[in-house]
Amino acid sequence: MDYTETLQNMSLDEIRAVLEVMQKASDSYIYIMDLDTDTYMTTRKMLTRFPFEDVVTENATPALKQIIYSSDYVKVKEDIQKCASGEQEIHGMEYRWLDREGRIVWIDCRGTVITGVGGHRLLVGRVTELGKEAKADNVTGLRREVRFKYDAEEILRDRPETIKYMMRIGIDNFKEINEKEGVEAGDNVLRELADCIVASVDSRVDVYRLMADEFMLVDAYPESDKDAEDVYEEIKNRVAITVRRKEYSCFYTISAGIVQDEFKDRSADEILRLTEFALNEAKRNGRNQMALFDMEIYDGYLKRLDIRKLMRQDINNNFRGFQVFYQPIVSTLDYNIIGAEALLRWNCEKYGNVSPAIFIPILEESGLIIPVGRYVLWQAAETCKKWREILPDFHVHVNLSYVQMHKSDLLEDVDKCIKEVDIPPESLVLELTESGYIETDSRIKELFKYLKDKNIDLALDDFGTGYSNMRYLKEIEAKTVKIDRSFVVQALKNEHDYSIIKHIIDMVHSLGSSVCMEGIEEADELEKMMKTKPDMIQGYYFGKPSSSEQFEEQFLCATDSP
Ligand code: C2E
Ligand code: MG
Ligand code: MG
Repeated sequence: MDYTETLQNMSLDEIRAVLEVMQKASDSYIYIMDLDTDTYMTTRKMLTRFPFEDVVTENATPALKQIIYSSDYVKVKEDIQKCASGEQEIHGMEYRWLDREGRIVWIDCRGTVITGVGGHRLLVGRVTELGKEAKADNVTGLRREVRFKYDAEEILRDRPETIKYMMRIGIDNFKEINEKEGVEAGDNVLRELADCIVASVDSRVDVYRLMADEFMLVDAYPESDKDAEDVYEEIKNRVAITVRRKEYSCFYTISAGIVQDEFKDRSADEILRLTEFALNEAKRNGRNQMALFDMEIYDGYLKRLDIRKLMRQDINNNFRGFQVFYQPIVSTLDYNIIGAEALLRWNCEKYGNVSPAIFIPILEESGLIIPVGRYVLWQAAETCKKWREILPDFHVHVNLSYVQMHKSDLLEDVDKCIKEVDIPPESLVLELTESGYIETDSRIKELFKYLKDKNIDLALDDFGTGYSNMRYLKEIEAKTVKIDRSFVVQALKNEHDYSIIKHIIDMVHSLGSSVCMEGIEEADELEKMMKTKPDMIQGYYFGKPSSSEQFEEQFLCATDSP
């Protein structure tokens, strides 16, 4: 049969209809270019990806000039001209296009010249995105992420209600296997795991290999009867058996993140993000386990990301929204103020006043605590200098995060601050928690030695919440131990804890350090805890954290008057 003749008898609309039908069966983009009239015909799918204005483009050459990446244009034009002039019958080239967002996309364009309506020379062919080619994985024999996206888009669009689960599985220590045992061993593990997965699921469940060591399982078939959790357990067991059978030559465990609803109105990319989040949750929770995606936890995570973004903007905006508050510390000899703790506050339009319990960990995780910590240090030093004019022995306590200790030039910062602001080093007390202290870190040892040489005191904060190890106290040579409010509250309720605190205070004293008790709110609490003989008290009973102006008004003006 002479197809050319059939084509010659077809109208433009009929040809277009055929293109659309063919397009359904292809991942490539189908086109026909009339080389005589310079008309380009393609499908609606092409329009969603590349910036053609319509499925039919008259004056195709200037339109294609916009789409073909400029450096490739001349050679493509020459090749098409050869087809137009009859010099060649085949167009086949790999070159670059720009997509709708202006991003470069490598394509493979292939076409054959035939004679069509009115004897016109038609170039009929397809455009394939080269980046999408890698659809199957030669290591595991599974389909790859591109294919997952393609399939998932279809299921999510046409029948999201049939999806039972999508499960993302990751190897807990894959990087280590590759590094220690070699890439070959890594590939073997991937193959083994792929086999374990396939053997554990109903044959209708789709299994894909995503990047690196991750796999995706899609169960969208009501007939399959295994729950996601059972499937995970079965895969885990098979992996354990395989590892044992191979005499532990390569030990690994797997974690999984499972999404069971949330499919409505979501794209494949979103599902990839949700499963990734759940998988990371499983790993954060200790690995070798699965985690079900939880929208509430995810929302909290997104909120933290948002807060991080807002804080970063505020930091770059001269610390807008940040403020240092001060809470009085009194001596138990006479209840006079001997110092204050500098406590950071952050306020933003969207979330109002955010608790330090929320924003401090975000600052720490992101490293932003380094510039913010510097800001607090300078603010506190300047305030201390001012207040020492009224109370000459006044001390300011500044909290230090472990991140500042390990990842910034804290030593230089403290030195610079003391010199620039011109305060005596002994007016500064640095508070740190046990969690920030790592015995083996020589940098930390150097820091402690420097601080001691400089006469800057250290306070061990949050005592009673962690290991409360007396050895830290000795090694750090902290001048003060701050007993955390949670411990004090326990002691107020419970005689056993009360007697522990009493003994701890005796021990701290015998080591030559003093004790600051935090969180005293009421007179009767003060009375009871005073019997344990702390040296200092910091609590709402004597004053809540307040701005420097309020602090001056409340505690320092009175000192002025007789
Ligand atoms: P922290 O260093 O142990 O500070 C004491 C916390 O106890 C403060 O909470 C203070 O407001 C609270 N507090 C004191 N007395 C009482 C009381 O009688 N009752 C009650 N209910 N609470 C009392 P805040 O200001 O919310 O700070 C929480 C934590 O955030 C601080 O605990 C500290 O670990 C951290 N933080 C605050 N500012 C900074 C900072 O500038 N840098 C770093 N790295 N951490 C900071
Ligand atoms: Mg503190
Ligand atoms: Mg504390």
